[in-house]
Amino acid sequence: MLNDIQEVLYDSDQIQQKVKELGETISREFEGRNPLVICVLKGAFIFMSDLVKTITIPLEIDFMAVSSYGQSTKTSGVVKIIKDLDTPVQGRDILIVEDIIDSGLTLSYLIDVLERRNAKSVTLVTLFDKPAGRKVELEADYKGFVLPDAFVVGFGLDFAEKYRNLPFIGILKPEVYEK
Ligand code: 5GP
Ligand code: MG
Ligand code: MG
Repeated sequence: MLNDIQEVLYDSDQIQQKVKELGETISREFEGRNPLVICVLKGAFIFMSDLVKTITIPLEIDFMAVSSYGQSTKTSGVVKIIKDLDTPVQGRDILIVEDIIDSGLTLSYLIDVLERRNAKSVTLVTLFDKPAGRKVELEADYKGFVLPDAFVVGFGLDFAEKYRNLPFIGILKPEVYEK
């Protein structure tokens, strides 16, 4: 598995430090608001679990699964809800927790869905951002690391469902997905 990695961009310690900073900021921002924190499955599951442990205010969590990539490394632009929330969002302060923003298509679709369900507010935190890939205008309220325009894996992010368990974020060797 490690043989398939071209370069480690951020190791586990660097990521944990950043997650802690994000958690402190979010704790201040959402003080007294009991946010509904939504994990966008599957990629954000590790970030979500680490992040909520650093948040010091009461909150609720829920999960949503959307798909846009399938087995490819480029977005199809078609977003599908695979698993919807269990919790009503009407009148709630929502914090969406995402692993990475590339084209922005997935998140702009999701934000639209939540706004149409009359969320009180929708805030977006992403651990990784690839601004060079944007196809729609979209900016996260809080972000961890800005990455180059390369396909990365680890810390929850997959290629064809593999590599999610790597504790760091790294660039996948192109020969792995060009095979
Ligand atoms: P977007 O809709 O912004 O293009 O990206 C949607 C989803 O594609 C992300 O939430 C993530 O799950 C996946 N994705 C985007 N870029 C990468 C990447 O570099 N590596 C991996 N493993 N997934 C990515
Ligand atoms: Mg994602
Ligand atoms: Mg994926």
